[in-house]
Amino acid sequence: MARIKSRDGGRSRFFVRKRFCYFCVNHVDEIDYKDVSTLKHYLTERFKIIPRRNSGNCAKHQRKLSTAIKRARNMALLPFTIHSH
Ligand SMILES: [Zn+2]
Repeated sequence: MARIKSRDGGRSRFFVRKRFCYFCVNHVDEIDYKDVSTLKHYLTERFKIIPRRNSGNCAKHQRKLSTAIKRARNMALLPFTIHSH
């Protein structure tokens, strides 16, 4: 009887994918709050900020991103989080 050897170490269920920080790759230092098309990539359909573990951004740029998104909201360029209650 042949034994089936697990090659993935049992991690396949979690769909671990190594992602790069978009802003580091593109050498972006300051994230422009007026660049709504970029900011929208990091928002869910309810306009919540996608967490770092999902976005793949580094801590530095995730922080700058959230600041830019908050600024864009205050400038009415982006809607605030849509609450469902
Ligand atoms: Zn980065």
